[in-house]
Amino acid sequence: MHTHKEMLGMLFLLNQTVREAAYYHDRIARITAKEAEIDRRCAASEKVAGCGPDATDRTVAEFELKIAETEARHRREMLREEIEAERYFIEDYERQAREIRKKLPSPALQLFDRLTGLTPGDVMSYEKDRACAKCAGRLDDAIMRRLEVIMEITQCPHCDRILEV
Ligand SMILES: [Zn+2]
Repeated sequence: MHTHKEMLGMLFLLNQTVREAAYYHDRIARITAKEAEIDRRCAASEKVAGCGPDATDRTVAEFELKIAETEARHRREMLREEIEAERYFIEDYERQAREIRKKLPSPALQLFDRLTGLTPGDVMSYEKDRACAKCAGRLDDAIMRRLEVIMEITQCPHCDRILEV
């Protein structure tokens, strides 16, 4: 079995994997938004090419549209590759998370998951000058004693985050 300090270390790492995975999910969302922007622009230039006033204008417009479409295709491929790379990171963090979860006792895991539901990737804090480092709430003597003996999970009485030692 692991010591309490080791368990807190694992909770800290698990919290990091959640935060990192969320960061890469956010990047994917931004890349997807860029793709949507390309689609929108393509649709707009197709409209222009379709309604040129005469044949010459239309030829020029269609030529420009072809260039724009080639560029758009190239850009889309690049974005696809970027997404693949982000997915790779996410899978890696998820794999790490699964490994850590296997080692944690279930009460600690349940508490972690409950807190993660409220503030994903931000469920750990630590004591600094008798206060919670995250919310700055004062920690009284009873809490300080609990942290000193390192026997059980101690949560900040103000923000509920798990306090590391
Ligand atoms: Zn706090």
